Amino acid sequence: MTIEKARQILKHQFGYDSFRMNQEAVIEAVLNKKDCVVLMPTGGGKSLCYQIPAMIFDGVTIVVSPLIALMKDQVEALRANGVEAAFLNSTQSASEQVAVFRSVRGGQTKLLYVAPERLFQGGDQFLEFLRELKVSLFAIDEAHCISSWGHDFRPEYMRLAILKKEFPGVPLIALTATADKLVRKDIFERLAIPEADLYISSFNRPNIYYQVEPKRKSYDQLLDFLEKRKEESGIIYCLSRNSVDALAADLRDQGFSALAYHAGLDKTTREKNQESFLKDETKIVVATIAFGMGIDKSNVRFVVHMDLPKNIESYYQETGRAGRDGLPSDALLFFSWGDVTKLKGFAEVEGNAAQSAIMLKKLDTMGTFGDLRTCRRKFLLNYFSEEFTDDCGSCDNCTTEVAKFDGTVIAQKALSAVYRTNQRFGLSYIVDFLRGSRSEKIRDEHKNIKTYGIGADISKDAWYEYFRDLMAQGFVAQTDGQYPVLVLTETSMDVLAGKTPVQLTKSRVREEKLTRVAREVAFPHIPELFNELRRVRSVFAREENVPPYVVFSDATLVEMATYLPQTDSEMRQISGVGDLKFERYGADFLNEVRNYCSRNGLRSRIDLKSKRRERRPRTKRDVDGRDTSRISLDLFQAGRSIPDIARERGLAVSTIENHLARFIPTGEVSLEQFVQAEKVEPIRKAIDKFAESNALSPIKEYLGEDYSYGEIRAVMAAVSGR
Ligand code: ADP
Ligand code: ZN
Repeated sequence: MTIEKARQILKHQFGYDSFRMNQEAVIEAVLNKKDCVVLMPTGGGKSLCYQIPAMIFDGVTIVVSPLIALMKDQVEALRANGVEAAFLNSTQSASEQVAVFRSVRGGQTKLLYVAPERLFQGGDQFLEFLRELKVSLFAIDEAHCISSWGHDFRPEYMRLAILKKEFPGVPLIALTATADKLVRKDIFERLAIPEADLYISSFNRPNIYYQVEPKRKSYDQLLDFLEKRKEESGIIYCLSRNSVDALAADLRDQGFSALAYHAGLDKTTREKNQESFLKDETKIVVATIAFGMGIDKSNVRFVVHMDLPKNIESYYQETGRAGRDGLPSDALLFFSWGDVTKLKGFAEVEGNAAQSAIMLKKLDTMGTFGDLRTCRRKFLLNYFSEEFTDDCGSCDNCTTEVAKFDGTVIAQKALSAVYRTNQRFGLSYIVDFLRGSRSEKIRDEHKNIKTYGIGADISKDAWYEYFRDLMAQGFVAQTDGQYPVLVLTETSMDVLAGKTPVQLTKSRVREEKLTRVAREVAFPHIPELFNELRRVRSVFAREENVPPYVVFSDATLVEMATYLPQTDSEMRQISGVGDLKFERYGADFLNEVRNYCSRNGLRSRIDLKSKRRERRPRTKRDVDGRDTSRISLDLFQAGRSIPDIARERGLAVSTIENHLARFIPTGEVSLEQFVQAEKVEPIRKAIDKFAESNALSPIKEYLGEDYSYGEIRAVMAAVSGR
């Protein structure tokens, strides 16, 4: 009954059709007054987990959040949907704060956002205030701040245990996007909620396309990249303040709308630049990592790293700032091993060998990621201990054809250089040696060796790539330690003797086309109309002095530009159009769409949407709210083969199989359509055998080569109905 109420609020107030990830389960638990710990990736939709219960409960929900800069926007966004909300923090004057206290006492406020330090300011005063009120729920946002293991420890958070002590009957929900086990343990302990339910969502961000480019002429490459994204918002991270300033200035010279952000700028400039970015007035922010915590801009379309982040955690968090609205977004990293070496210099924690070792190891893992030839998403999710067995089909490695060639001669040159210098030198020395560098670094006795300069026709970068390739294939190895040297392996001699041919990978050529196609099929909106709708939106945003996404998110505008609503009721079906926003803005946006359609002879396509919604199966990875599986299904039902669909969509065959498997329980695809009849029984048996582990890989291993993950998943879907 109450969850029904929650669903109504979701639709009427927020304008969304269905819950995402664990939202529904969490809301149900909170409504039953259970304490909850919720782990969801950035952009997953954590806020609704407490906002909706807050609206159902009598009384007021207290939201503790360290992100002062965000509070105002969050409250504005709630008000735009007709929810009574307020905030208290140190940016307000005393009289403003008094006004807030008064209105909260008045009893209308459903959500009160409070900075943690405000909570404890003036001794017990605030707690006294809370005792006067009817507090229905405590929500602790960014709960990882309570742990010194996290990346953003805040001492004030340590005092939050008092909430449970003073208000034992009031449920408490803690939310974070940091999943680490140690952090998790601290959250349970320090908030004094040992019995809380734990909800962990997949950390996959399916709408982010991960891409790494070798760092060569990174500035030119960056310009190419930006040129294709002129209308889009993005963040570009650099390591140092100087490079931030220089790059921002260069980009402005090139006619881009770019501003700088780093801790060296004065506070006013920083705030001004941030504000301008949030309001879409500036498209690009060039920043150090000081920028980002608390950036809740939903339409960041790309995050670029000009320099290497120092660990995977930072990389994932920073790239996670892209695409919070669920639309396709890019994460681009410029990578060189030189950066790894450079950062090693900073990674040493003086007087703490153990800590230094951890930092160096994390840095090496970051290097491995940069050099990866296999699915990047799989690597990232596995790094965070999440099972992800298939290739994702939407990272550079998954969408790039790698061309191999006979590299035996190159390999022989490389290995003989290692051999002739007695396996006592590192990669960069060997490459210089091969290229016949005149540097003094090269020892005189080496300059007389026959191999010296034998590889001068191959560029330095190409040599680096070939060596990485040879290492990956085990033809040469690198020792551990601070000064790693190259050494030969058991198979090296066979190569040198000409007994083993070697295949090398051509320098990677990105098939940009492939990903573009995938995007167009997945999001068939009309860009021209989308831009017109953005203009309408910016008029409202300026009038009301709020960031544009408070009016409507990009995702909502994209839906309008896809389904072309022609009537009020059609407009109400667009995701993100709740009752109040419909009343305020509906007519203007409807007009814009209708005019566009009549000029271009187009009609409503809302049918496509309602069909999708009714039939949509529940899928775990359906984070973006847009059903990519459904697109595969449509093509499949139109008679296309699986490999054919994979090619058209630029996705892996296994991905398409996964998509289709989801429709077995709904009856839209029959099992026989993609698993041969005689294979079904063996798969069924294997599933039974490993029923307890509930994991795919042991089953696959057991069945062997002849059975694909897709087939196993299909039978599983048929057996279990999910
Ligand atoms: P988080 O706090 O986890 O980073 P938010 O709560 O800010 O994420 O949500 C990210 C975006 O997703 C917001 O624009 C929000 O309105 C939207 N959103 C949340 N839940 C849903 C849903 N069930 N359907 C559609 N959009 C949603
Ligand atoms: Zn991939």
